[in-house]
Amino acid sequence: MECDVHGAEGCAECKPALRAAWTVGQLRAALTGIPDDTPLVANTVDYSGPNVADEQVIVGAGFGTINWGDGYGTEPDAVFGLQCEIPEALLRTRPDRPRRRADAP
Ligand SMILES: [Zn+2]
Repeated sequence: MECDVHGAEGCAECKPALRAAWTVGQLRAALTGIPDDTPLVANTVDYSGPNVADEQVIVGAGFGTINWGDGYGTEPDAVFGLQCEIPEALLRTRPDRPRRRADAP
């Protein structure tokens, strides 16, 4: 995410992505009313350009584990993660319809 102040991608100083990071509650609210069979993807960052995203399918979700390396061993993580995969085929099919002209209503 680009920093508004410094114009840099992934600005560590201002942390725009961390300030914009959603919680589970925000995602749950955004999903309210959307039909259960609606396809769901994650548009992940592609650093090749600011308007480019990598569309990935979500194949799992849950809490993982973390080991801080401080002798306490592996513990449950407090961050809920979505597991993504790059789809092997296109997710959409272009509609089979005649091309519209630019001046058409
Ligand atoms: Zn910044």
